[in-house]
Amino acid sequence: MVDFDGTLAPIVDLPELAEMSDDMKLLISNLAKSSHFTVGVLSGRALTDLKEKVGVEGLVYAGNHGMEIETPNKTYIHPRALDILEPMGKIKAELVKSLSSFEGVLIEDKGLTLSVHYRLAVPKDVSEVRKIFCKTIEPYIKERVFKQTEGKRVFELRPPIDWDKGSAILWLIEALNLKNDLPIYLGDDKTDEDAFVVLKRKGISVFVGEPKTQSKAVYYLKDVFEVEDFLKKLEALFDT
Ligand SMILES: [Mg+2]
Repeated sequence: MVDFDGTLAPIVDLPELAEMSDDMKLLISNLAKSSHFTVGVLSGRALTDLKEKVGVEGLVYAGNHGMEIETPNKTYIHPRALDILEPMGKIKAELVKSLSSFEGVLIEDKGLTLSVHYRLAVPKDVSEVRKIFCKTIEPYIKERVFKQTEGKRVFELRPPIDWDKGSAILWLIEALNLKNDLPIYLGDDKTDEDAFVVLKRKGISVFVGEPKTQSKAVYYLKDVFEVEDFLKKLEALFDT
């Protein structure tokens, strides 16, 4: 399983411009076709967005941090995640109102989750944006309508359920009957840590980025290019 942004595709200023290289696409597609691998992409993006971005057939796709999953013959949506849709519309309207005056702050509605991107914001505005964001969501957090998480220059709101990339991986291992396989997970961000934790003593966890002591991953690769080399090596293992 691999994360998408920052793992298969370089991080860019606007999430809609993120793109996988043709080489990476071909590699993922070849691995998915091989009988030796089951390949999945697990992302914070909405499922439909993720599928469109990757565009490779025969993969397992898990969007919204694994709350919506599609395998070649199964689909899954976390049942309690759907409760979020109504309050999500309300809080989105409130955030649009309170943050619209800040240049470069993007509010992304991902159905089951919502992201506020501040990568393009004026740096001196960021602490104010954070303050307003926290104030706007405070009543919802108190009543446990949502929970808040953070990624690379993004604030996120998610359903208040115990379901993360780690839970999604465990669900997939069970649902796809992969208990005798070796799970490998590559990711570059905070939400990937949940996946690294569940693979402890069970599989191979790879942090993508400069080595840092706070990651729970056992291995690291420096960037998207090293991820590509690693996947090529995996492919070559069975290339006879
Ligand atoms: Mg990422």
